[in-house]
Amino acid sequence: MNYFSTRNSRIDKTFDQIIIEGLSADGGLFMPKSWPKINLNNLIDNKGLTYADLASTILINFVGDTISKSELDIISKESFKNFSHKDVAPLVEISKGKYILELFHGPTYAFKDYPLQIVGNLFQYFLAKNNKKITVIGATSGDTGSAAIEACKDKENIKVFILHPFKKTSEIQRKQMTTVESNNVHNIAINGTFDDCQKIVKDLFVSEDINKITSLSAINSINWARIISQTVYFYWAFLQSKDFNSKINFIVPTGNFGNVYAAHVAGITGLPIRKLYVSTNENDIMHRTLKYGDMSLKKVKSTISPSMDIQISSNFERQLFESLNCDSDKLKDLMTEFYKNKKYIIKDKLLKNLRDIYESESFKDEEIIKTIQYFYEKYNYISDPHTATSLNTLKKIDNKDINVSLACAHPAKFPDSIIKAININVKRPEKLNKILNMKEKYIKLDNNIESVKSFIIENL
Ligand SMILES: *Cc1c(COP(=O)(O)O)cnc(C)c1O
Repeated sequence: MNYFSTRNSRIDKTFDQIIIEGLSADGGLFMPKSWPKINLNNLIDNKGLTYADLASTILINFVGDTISKSELDIISKESFKNFSHKDVAPLVEISKGKYILELFHGPTYAFKDYPLQIVGNLFQYFLAKNNKKITVIGATSGDTGSAAIEACKDKENIKVFILHPFKKTSEIQRKQMTTVESNNVHNIAINGTFDDCQKIVKDLFVSEDINKITSLSAINSINWARIISQTVYFYWAFLQSKDFNSKINFIVPTGNFGNVYAAHVAGITGLPIRKLYVSTNENDIMHRTLKYGDMSLKKVKSTISPSMDIQISSNFERQLFESLNCDSDKLKDLMTEFYKNKKYIIKDKLLKNLRDIYESESFKDEEIIKTIQYFYEKYNYISDPHTATSLNTLKKIDNKDINVSLACAHPAKFPDSIIKAININVKRPEKLNKILNMKEKYIKLDNNIESVKSFIIENL
């Protein structure tokens, strides 16, 4: 099992290389050179299979000989031991054939915990084995930062620096990051916006001063290890439904296209998926692309589902590469034109290929609020605004398949929208209550790369 890049299919890398590198040096994303087949019947027959067992059973197909099954078993078990639900990712049936897959029972109450807990442990494993150290740097407007911090805290070979815009994240989101007590974690509040933070991070990645003293890494969804760690819960949903003779559809709230591509990987490797439904908020580039072939950039709009406020969906490049029969030259031409003109029109065979796999819809904030209301009144189910983008589609779907909508964050993380929709104060999980009174640790720095650079160098 080796890997090439979406922008250069001539390279050949192993799993331990691509997880540490994250992004390929040519700017492309790493992809497997062939697809493994996962034996679904073996999974169905294995009655005592836990979520952690399933994770290592799936991942072993993608790692070549870089790590053994027994080591992967240990990592997988360790990764999910602090999840608060016994099923890890419970499948909630709301009516016949319609389900919600809850992915908010991890340490930060959002789905990114599911991949990042594994990725953090895999990072540490490969770094220790190769006697390497890395520095993880990231910018966050909220959820990604805390999931990355929880995944990397106390890991000996990793240092973490997370930038957030001062006073521009919610109090809960900030405290989820700043109350983590760990010597390798550094929170930096920047006197500026999220875009300022992101700009500083991008500049740090190409800064010679930093790169000559440490290796930088990002743990965002471009990392292939994240995608395959997410593939696990699509299989898990099918196994929990117990309806082994039916086909399954997934409805996925989408930003960076990581989650829905992980679902597609489940389909390629053996899960009987009929259709994947991509839901977006008003930042609808993926919806326009999949429905009309209109891949054109618009300005990012702030919505009540902020983790989906994205215009460039990085992981879509993986799907395009696959649909172009892994022709990296064609893909490179397409991306070059897209970045140059801020627009690319997808046509004919390529569009048909995409539409065979995906359907899509986009929803305005008002519709999302209405959906939260509807699901509370009809099913007594409280969903967060990201989750609600998909529930709209789940509501309308009418077929004999298994239909699973993904719940990506705990509703208590978005109290304002819930109050607006149903006038209820969602009960906070105990751990979220606790951090509200805990001591915070972060440093406030000026909005320029020099101040951040000095701070990082002092603390490496
Ligand atoms: C990250 C995130 C998303 C978007 O997922 P992608 O994999 O980027 O498409 C949706 N909802 C929540 C709550 C998230 O944190």
